[in-house]
Amino acid sequence: MAESYDYEVIVIGAGPAGSLAAAEAARAGKKVLIVEKDTEVGIPETCGGLVSASGLSNIIEDTSVIKRKINKGSLIVKDALFEFSFEKSNLVEIERQLLDKKLAGIAVREGSELILGSYAFYKKENGVNLVYIKGKKLTAKYIINAGGSSYYLKKEGKVLATQYMFALKNGYYDGIAVYINKELYPKMFGWYIPYDEGLAKVGAPGSPDVAMLAVKKIFEKLKLNGKAVKMLSAYLINGGPFYQYNTRDYVMVGDAGGQTKPTTGGGIIFGGVGGKIAGKLAGKDALGTYNNEYYEHGPGKDLIKQVKIKDVYEMLSDSAIFKIASVLHERNISFVEDEFDYHSKLIKKVLQDPTLAFKLAEVMPSVAFSYLKSLLLS
Ligand SMILES: Cc1cc2nc3c(=O)[nH]c(=O)nc-3n(C[C@H](O)[C@H](O)[C@H](O)COP(=O)(O)OP(=O)(O)OC[C@H]3O[C@@H](n4cnc5c(N)ncnc54)[C@H](O)[C@@H]3O)c2cc1C
Repeated sequence: MAESYDYEVIVIGAGPAGSLAAAEAARAGKKVLIVEKDTEVGIPETCGGLVSASGLSNIIEDTSVIKRKINKGSLIVKDALFEFSFEKSNLVEIERQLLDKKLAGIAVREGSELILGSYAFYKKENGVNLVYIKGKKLTAKYIINAGGSSYYLKKEGKVLATQYMFALKNGYYDGIAVYINKELYPKMFGWYIPYDEGLAKVGAPGSPDVAMLAVKKIFEKLKLNGKAVKMLSAYLINGGPFYQYNTRDYVMVGDAGGQTKPTTGGGIIFGGVGGKIAGKLAGKDALGTYNNEYYEHGPGKDLIKQVKIKDVYEMLSDSAIFKIASVLHERNISFVEDEFDYHSKLIKKVLQDPTLAFKLAEVMPSVAFSYLKSLLLS
């Protein structure tokens, strides 16, 4: 007897990962439903909006979501500021809300149904995927869970972060800035991202008070001041992939599956591609091969490496990072091409330069240096 379902694919969440998954599955001819708990796609916006242009081209062709190219970046550590050129990088800032809406639009144009303002409650009963929405019980052959950070199931690796939008009273810095202070932010850093003339997004891990300490330092070093006009607190995922619960008819993609760069928590591209692959596989009735396609042979392979790079970062003191920054600054090192997404490539390039590698070996704890070398050069 043929199996019959209300939908072949139900996608939980209309973030980038969910919409990309839905678009692919619908394009392959599947009957797809996306369920979104909020009443507007892309709102609330909990994002800095930094991605690489090459990464972005993997999830959307339309470049109108790009706001600007970022041409420089400052690293603030131990009261010093090192500025690096990003001219050769392809780091861009996007309008995140617009991206989410455009991707949902593509999913709908491909034939997906989209329900807003409905919380999806998923349950498997007698081997059948059930999704309850607004008192209705729906069955689905495949579930793609793209519900974001609240579904991320690793105990470690979920960091509350606060980001403010500041109206600047004096001046404007049109590069990005990163503030390192291991005592305040042991696993991450504070950040500054220019938005529009006179507006900037500034944030850090932690509650609003703790993040404000980063704001103060960043503003002091960039010689800026201003007034917060918006504040958001949300979880960043930086604990690496979580694929243990993926099965032949259920996968977790995007933040839910830990598809973010563990070094920064950035997940638009890695999660978006994760959604896209899930949708394609559901379209071919091959969802059971997801872990193989994404983690063994796809971008997830680099994410697993990046978790280990983050471990090295955690070993470094502010003094060691100050010394590393001095070495890199002296040699005018900066990101090129897709190194903003694949940090391992930048670090590999540095380690392959004998003079630089020698200098780094002098300033890094030897355990951290040899671990990094064995990870990237073996
Ligand atoms: C402060 C901050 C700054 C960031 N900056 C960057 C950055 O600069 N670059 C970058 O690449 N990444 C950044 N990120 C991370 C990025 O925002 C996420 O990785 C990305 O949003 C993940 O996409 P997603 O589709 O997996 O999940 P989300 O975008 O979170 O979408 C999940 C969707 O599912 C919906 N949902 C959840 N549960 C249910 C349910 N039960 N039923 C129905 N709907 C549900 C939610 O409402 C939401 O719309 C940042 C994150 C934070 C917190």
